Amino acid sequence: MGSRVSGKTAFVTGAANGIGRSIAERLGEEGASIVIADVDVEAADETAAAFADEGIEAEAIECDVSDRESVREAVDATLDAFGSLDVLVNNAGISVGERFEDITPEEWQQVMDVNLTGIYNCSAEAVPAMAEQGDGRILNISSIAGLNLSYAGPASYTASKWGVIGLTKHMAWDLSDYGIRVNALCPGGTLTPLIEQLTSEEEREATRSKIPLDRMAKPRDHADAALFLVSDEASYVTGTTLTVDGGLSLSVRQEV
Ligand code: NAD
Repeated sequence: MGSRVSGKTAFVTGAANGIGRSIAERLGEEGASIVIADVDVEAADETAAAFADEGIEAEAIECDVSDRESVREAVDATLDAFGSLDVLVNNAGISVGERFEDITPEEWQQVMDVNLTGIYNCSAEAVPAMAEQGDGRILNISSIAGLNLSYAGPASYTASKWGVIGLTKHMAWDLSDYGIRVNALCPGGTLTPLIEQLTSEEEREATRSKIPLDRMAKPRDHADAALFLVSDEASYVTGTTLTVDGGLSLSVRQEV
């Protein structure tokens, strides 16, 4: 256990599983109190119990990031329980649909509502408390799909993740007036329930073979990078995008 974010309250969306869970755990190991804000309340409760066993102070709060009212209630419950909201990790994300020509308007909207509007909703609800404190750290989870295109998800996913990076830059600009830093993290292919649902073993192997560091990412790789970006060590870092992909985005070299 360390103390790099001790005394902070971290609200992590989609923290019941995968990358969000690992980020939440890492922040908890470094002294933060954790809010596991997830639409899957059963999984969130299980994660909170597992964190408690590790000595991490954590509370599961039901939250659908695409529903502003649900987000407002979750942020209010966080402030009631912990008295502050210092770190917001906008991690919740989904991928629905496949090829562009088959995406339905409902699928398009669903992806945008969670992946992009969800970040707007959570940030807009958290910013007043952060601004009052004169200190806040927001980390938005984009993807290498936000730098090029998704290898497993549809065009809506790619578009949403490019949107996350644009939103991050503009939020960083506007919110610097209040002492709030905003950055984005771009994970490469990572072994989580999301990627297992979207890809076959063969496709994952094909991806791995293109990764210079020769393995898919583990959620913990992103957790360590996330910890840096929300800690005081990154106190002069805002509006940036950190890619954590084992060099996968360099793999154009292998195609030519
Ligand atoms: P995951 O499916 O394993 O976990 C996502 C979590 O988000 C789940 O607990 C789910 O219940 C929750 N969630 C879904 N919709 C929600 C909503 N409306 N409100 C609140 N919570 C909701 O996903 P993951 O692979 O850990 O991905 C996490 C983030 O990382 C996503 O933004 C994803 O786009 C991004 N990402 C993942 C990869 C990868 O390879 N796994 C790569 C790049 C980026």
